[in-house]
Amino acid sequence: MNAEIIAVGTELLLGQIVNTNAQFISKQLADLGINVYYHTVVGDNPGRLKAALETAETRSNLIIFTGGLGPTKDDLTKETIAAHLGKKLVFDEEALKSIEAYFVRTNRTMTENNRKQALILEGSHVLPNDNGMAPGMALSVKDRMYMLLPGPPSEMEPMMAHYGYDFLLSKLSDREQIVSRVLRFFGIGEAALETEIDDIIERQTNPTIAPLAADGEVTLRLTAKHASVSEAERLLDLAEAEIRSRVGEFLYGYDETSLLEEAMKLLKQQGLTIAAAESLTGGMFQQQITSVSGASQILKGGVVCYTNEVKANILHVKQETIDKEGVVSEACASELALNVADLMGSKIGVSFTGVAGPDEQEGKPVGTVYIGLHVEGQPTYVKKLLLGGNRDSVRRRAVKYGFYLLIKRLTETQAAE
Ligand code: ATP
Repeated sequence: MNAEIIAVGTELLLGQIVNTNAQFISKQLADLGINVYYHTVVGDNPGRLKAALETAETRSNLIIFTGGLGPTKDDLTKETIAAHLGKKLVFDEEALKSIEAYFVRTNRTMTENNRKQALILEGSHVLPNDNGMAPGMALSVKDRMYMLLPGPPSEMEPMMAHYGYDFLLSKLSDREQIVSRVLRFFGIGEAALETEIDDIIERQTNPTIAPLAADGEVTLRLTAKHASVSEAERLLDLAEAEIRSRVGEFLYGYDETSLLEEAMKLLKQQGLTIAAAESLTGGMFQQQITSVSGASQILKGGVVCYTNEVKANILHVKQETIDKEGVVSEACASELALNVADLMGSKIGVSFTGVAGPDEQEGKPVGTVYIGLHVEGQPTYVKKLLLGGNRDSVRRRAVKYGFYLLIKRLTETQAAE
């Protein structure tokens, strides 16, 4: 398969942005063993986009577009390709639902031109957009494949790395046995993880190892090729074992799982109940738990203890703790976790207290977070973090950390038994 990447966007030609999308897509294709022979950049102009497409068709049988899938008038990629291929644009119900849900989630009003983003080329395979609205798509016409990806890297990269990659993999595996495995890490940054295993990444050719960071998590995709699937699996096992020996403590799951899913699985398996005292996170932790079916067997309840009075009067944090240590403190997190478990009658208590910003609090900088974890019969543990980012990301990262600490603790308990 010979590929060409066509990046669409006048900003690229004006030098306002760098074509990092082509670089990212090229790396993914290299992992799959697909040759990339051309990178093309074209402005938001249908005539020139059509000309670029016609040229690409003379030399490539996989043509990947990025950009121009948005709702505005200059987003013309789909329309131009549809007209060129003689395909209709049709509404994809799933994509439409997910766009509507996106507006509800972000509390914004959906306008008519946003619906346009749910239009897909007739007969195409949809690549879901987990981080935005416009879905991607892949389409085979005769012996050629076309893939359309959005422009924003925060949307394009995860879409390509998961859905685009899997789609291409499924097309390739008719001819070659390609097996891939995603290792998911938390609690370690992308740079730190890459430093730890830099030599392994450099040396490995089969499997290849591709890191990706998104939303505070890092994933490594291992892709092995072999005539036999079991041998490819064995190669993956060997590489994974070597990676684990360096950074295994941060590995929490495989493939399409999440911290929430893993934590819930362990809580269910061990028959444990949980309660939360949420100051910093204002209920986000419990909201996530309740988004999973079967939560009622696990979550007893909790308290959004935003004010000092609620911390003191409802959750019985000692006045002495508040006066001497402050509410953003190890002692406060510890008392909250222990007392909420007691109050709700659960085996586990989790607490979140911290400074989300934009202003510091009690002389503690923005991003200071304490997460308390009380498990019945064990000493209460408190993790202190200093998280970067804005108010929203500090809160979201704290919640993820809460699930991560639970996973760590519950897998340790499981191993000890
Ligand atoms: P949107 O819904 O935001 O309009 P889109 O799919 O239509 O998405 P564009 O409008 O082409 O994409 O680009 C949106 C933004 O994504 C650009 O302003 C730029 O910041 C980024 N972007 C687009 N193409 C690239 C690229 N090739 N490399 C890096 N960044 C890009």
